Amino acid sequence: MDHTADAIIIGAGVMGTSTAFQLVQRGMKRVVVLEKTNIAAGSSGKSSALVRMHYTFLPEARLALASLPWFQEWDDRVGGRCGFTRTGFFRLVDPGKEDLLRQNVERLRGIGVNTELISSGDLKGMAPETNIEDVEVAAYEPDSGYADGHSTANAFMDAARRGGATIHQGVTVTGFQVRGDAIQGVETDAGVFSAPIVISTAGPWSGPLLQRIGIDLPLVPSRHQIMILERPPSLAHEHVYISPGSLYFRPDSAGLTLVGYGAGEDGADPDTYRDAVDADHQIEGAERMAHRIPAMQQAGMRRGYAGCYTVTPDGKMIVDQAPGIEGLYLGTGFSGTGFKISPAIGIALAELATQGAATTVDVDAFRATRFDEGRMLRAKFEYLDRPYDPVPTEGGQSLRADTDWDR
Ligand SMILES: Cc1cc2nc3c(=O)[nH]c(=O)nc-3n(C[C@H](O)[C@H](O)[C@H](O)COP(=O)(O)OP(=O)(O)OC[C@H]3O[C@@H](n4cnc5c(N)ncnc54)[C@H](O)[C@@H]3O)c2cc1C
Repeated sequence: MDHTADAIIIGAGVMGTSTAFQLVQRGMKRVVVLEKTNIAAGSSGKSSALVRMHYTFLPEARLALASLPWFQEWDDRVGGRCGFTRTGFFRLVDPGKEDLLRQNVERLRGIGVNTELISSGDLKGMAPETNIEDVEVAAYEPDSGYADGHSTANAFMDAARRGGATIHQGVTVTGFQVRGDAIQGVETDAGVFSAPIVISTAGPWSGPLLQRIGIDLPLVPSRHQIMILERPPSLAHEHVYISPGSLYFRPDSAGLTLVGYGAGEDGADPDTYRDAVDADHQIEGAERMAHRIPAMQQAGMRRGYAGCYTVTPDGKMIVDQAPGIEGLYLGTGFSGTGFKISPAIGIALAELATQGAATTVDVDAFRATRFDEGRMLRAKFEYLDRPYDPVPTEGGQSLRADTDWDR
């Protein structure tokens, strides 16, 4: 095992593997990915993998938009399969929030997203199975759909390997080596690996790992439950939806519908969280689903599981050079929305590491220091079902909502 590299990546989820791929694309040969379990063992393998552009915060929408062609042209750009299935996507909002939705659809169109506002009648025409009694308008994206987290991470890693990258699975990073203020490598249970660049994409394990080098970020693992329902045979359901109550659902393999909802359970331990779906969650999920798609009253539960998001106080990611440590880069806090932007994040982290700044995509909003500065990112026209209220910092101060970056 060669223990020296040009760059080390911690974690082989979609972010680490996408970054490895982008580094070799930029001519870097000795890229080493260290993964404590196996490819896509963390959030990525549990991801519902919705691919849509509809965000309320424009910098996130731009990253999703920049990523879409990668999913659409996967075979040409990466090779292998990512499982992208184009279905079309509907975003429904609570009554009273229609004007916010209207404004966001206009803003999204302004940055080039193929989206439109449709009436409830249009929605019913496209998807007759939908209950529209509480819907006045919806946002529609014809190009969106879903993909597969396992396939995506594996395909990124295969492509990176073809370009010369190496992955060591079953190797846990336990610490960092620093000289002065520059990174030198990492310590692992298989010895020290040396490199002038280290990129940490450790998903829900990021918080405690980064504390080992004195970086204290407000990162909270949050358990989210997914149900796979068996549709009644007569029910065709072809689209991806996000509906009020943090309810989202999409078709899965033949005859199945994947359903997620709710705020999740913050403070979960990513190594020991309960993987099965709770009984009360199942009951409420079935009710919410049957409200939106009444024919799903006859749906049966096929299986369920839980996965971990990595959540920050504003629900937005951190993509940045580590404050005060030259050569260390961070990609974390992707919450429940990282999958669809993984192609763009790989580009951003590779450019940060090789040229000091991301120039192809814009990640300036997602600085690691914003929480210490007392700020949290906020959209101008927000209708998140789970608003991220200002949270007290350790010093007891609340974070100020900063909408300046939503442009
Ligand atoms: C249930 C669920 C549904 C989701 N649905 C969607 C969705 O519909 N659309 C969307 O865009 N996003 C969705 N997401 C979010 C998305 O999946 C994540 O944001 C994304 O997968 C994060 O990828 P990652 O590579 O940062 O983290 P991970 O996939 O967690 O990868 C981190 C890797 O690092 C490894 N690791 C950790 N610590 C160490 C260490 N010390 N040494 C070595 N290796 C280490 C882990 O084993 C893991 O493989 C969902 C997430 C979940 C859990």
